[in-house]
Amino acid sequence: MTLMSPWRATIITLYPEMFPGPLGHSLAGRAMEQGIWSLEARQLREHGLGRHRAVDDTPFGGGAGMVLRADVVDAALADCVDAKGDDRPVVVLTPRGAPLDQATVRRLAAGPGVVLLCGRFEGIDQRVIEARQLTEISIGDYILSGGETAALVLLDACVRLLPGVMGKEESGEEESFSHGLLEYPHYTRPAEWQGHSVPDVLLSGNHAAIAAWRLAKSQEITRARRPDLWARHVTAPV
Ligand code: SAH
Repeated sequence: MTLMSPWRATIITLYPEMFPGPLGHSLAGRAMEQGIWSLEARQLREHGLGRHRAVDDTPFGGGAGMVLRADVVDAALADCVDAKGDDRPVVVLTPRGAPLDQATVRRLAAGPGVVLLCGRFEGIDQRVIEARQLTEISIGDYILSGGETAALVLLDACVRLLPGVMGKEESGEEESFSHGLLEYPHYTRPAEWQGHSVPDVLLSGNHAAIAAWRLAKSQEITRARRPDLWARHVTAPV
C-alpha cells in the first residue's frame, strides 16, 4: 500500500496563532493527527518592510483604513508556492469573491490542498490579486474583521470530505446541498418528548416509505426556505 501524501493547507495571515484553532479538535483534529491533512500557518509580517516590518499602507484616493501592500503579499506568496513547483490553488478570502458552495468545496478537497491568503483592514492591493490570478472566495454576504475565520470555515468544509475523515461514507452523500436540496429533519430517542412524537413513518421499518418521506421533506423545505436552490434543482439536468 502506498502512503498518500496529506492534503496540504497553508495559510498566510497576520494571526498564525489563530490556527488550527477549532480545526485541531474533533473530526478535523483527528484527521490531522492521522496525517490525512496538514496545516501550516505563516506569518505575513515576516515579509514586512523595514524595522517595523510594515505590511500595510494608506489607500490611494483616500478613505479610512489601511490596505495590505502588494509587494509584501507577493513576497509571502512567492516564498510559499513558487519555489517548490507547488500546484495548489491560491485562494484569497474576500467578500467580493465567488460565494463558497459545496461544489467548490468538493473541487478543492479533491485536489492537492490549498493556499489561503487572509486579508485584514480594508483588504489587499488589487494588483497582486490580478497579477497572480488569485481565486477570490467569499463565505457569505457579510463583513468579517479578517479572513482567518473565513479560512477556518473553508478548511472545515474541505477536510471533512477527505477520504477517511468521515465515519460512514453516506454521511457525506445524503446531507444538504449534495443533491441540490436541503436535508430532511432528523429525530432520535425518546420517541415521545414533551408530548411531541416523531413521524410514524420513521418507526415503520419500511425503508422505501422512509426514503420517499425524506425526499418529500427535503423538497418541501428547500422550496419553502431557499427558492433559489429550488429553482436550480428543478431546472438541473437529471
Ligand atoms: N473593505 C472590505 C472588507 C474588508 S474586511 C470590503 O468592503 O469588501 C477585512 C478582511 O476580512 C478582508 O480582506 C477579507 O480577507 C476578510 N473577509 C471579510 N468578510 C469576508 C467574507 N464574507 N468572506 C471572506 N472573507 C472575508
